[in-house]
Amino acid sequence: MKKRRISKAIKIGGVTVGGGASIVVQSMTKTDTRDVMSTIRQIQELEECGCELIRVAVPDDEAAQSLPAIKKNIAIPLIADIHFDYRLALAALTAGVDGLRLNPGNITQPDKVSTIVRAAMERDVPIRIGVNAGSLPKTVNPKLNTAQQMVAIAMQQIRFLEELDFSLIKVSLKAFDVPTTIEAYRNIASKIPYPLHLGITEAGPPRSGIIRSVAGISTLLYAGIGDTIRVSLSSHPREEVFSAYEILKSLDLRQHGPALVTCPSCGRAEVDIISLAAEVEEKLKYIDKPIKVAVMGCEVNGPGEARDADIGIACGKGKAVLFKRGEKIGVVEEGNFIGVLMKEIEDFIIG
Ligand code: SF4
Repeated sequence: MKKRRISKAIKIGGVTVGGGASIVVQSMTKTDTRDVMSTIRQIQELEECGCELIRVAVPDDEAAQSLPAIKKNIAIPLIADIHFDYRLALAALTAGVDGLRLNPGNITQPDKVSTIVRAAMERDVPIRIGVNAGSLPKTVNPKLNTAQQMVAIAMQQIRFLEELDFSLIKVSLKAFDVPTTIEAYRNIASKIPYPLHLGITEAGPPRSGIIRSVAGISTLLYAGIGDTIRVSLSSHPREEVFSAYEILKSLDLRQHGPALVTCPSCGRAEVDIISLAAEVEEKLKYIDKPIKVAVMGCEVNGPGEARDADIGIACGKGKAVLFKRGEKIGVVEEGNFIGVLMKEIEDFIIG
C-alpha cells in the first residue's frame, strides 16, 4: 500500500477529516428530511452502526426548517446537501449544520456562491465541493474527457473559494464509471492540499453496488488517496456503513467490530455452513469491538482457521469443536452451535 497522501485537516463538527486522521465513514439519510422523526430515527440507527458523518438532502425551505430539530437530537455532525437554491444553504447554516455539500454544476452564479462562502466562513463551517459526472455544467471544455472535466470544474470552484480566502474545503469527484472516478481523483490528488471524500455515485443495489464501490474506493485507498468514504447503495443506509467499514478493515486502515472468517463450503462440509455463516454474520453486525471469529465447515481445514481466530468453531458431523485463542475449549452439539458461539463471543468481549 502506498504511503497516505497527507491533506489539510478540517473539522466537521467534532470530527477531523484529513491531516492523517482515521478515514471517516459517512452516509446519507434516505428519509424525507421534512419528516423530522423518521430522519432522526434513521440517523440514530446509523450512529449505532458507526456512521461518523451524516448528510441530509435539503430540497426546500421546509426541509431547511427541519434541520435544527434534527441537529438537536443526533450525536454526529450534520451536513446539508444543497442543490440549485443558494438560499437553502444560508438557511442550513443559520440552522447550525456542521458542513455543507454544494454541487458546482447547479449553483453557478459567482455572487450566490460567494454569499454562501462568506456565511460559512463566519461560522467555520466546511464546504464540500461535490462534483458529480452526471451534472457537469455546460461551460466545461467538451474536448476534455469526463474525468478531466470533473477535475476542471472542481479546480475552478476551489480557486474561486480560495480567492474569497476560504480554505475549509473538502472535494469529491464521483461518477458511476469506476475508471473515470479513479482517474479524476488521481488527477486532482496532487493538485490540491484539501481532503478528499471518496465514493462511486449511484453504484446500484447491494450486490453490484458494493462491488463497484470496492473496486473504486479500494483502488484509491490503496494508492494512499482518500480521507472519508461513502458506499452509495440502493438499500438501507446501514448497509452503506457496514460496507464502508468492511473496506477499511480489509485494507487494515481501520479496526471496527468483528472480522468473520467463514469457509466457502464444499463437498466435505458436514453442516449447512452457508446458513450458519449468514446467521453468525447477522448477529455480529451490532458488535463494535474488534474480534476475529471463524466458522468452518469440516475437520480438514476447519481447525487451523478456527484456532487462528479469537473464537472459532470447526464443524463435524452433528458436532463442532470450539476454540478460544487457539485452544480447544469444548465440543458443541449441532443444535447449540449459534448459542454457544455467541455466548463465548460475548464473554470474550466483556473480557
Ligand atoms: Fe470444504 Fe472444509 Fe474447506 Fe469448508 S473448511 S471449504 S468444508 S474443506
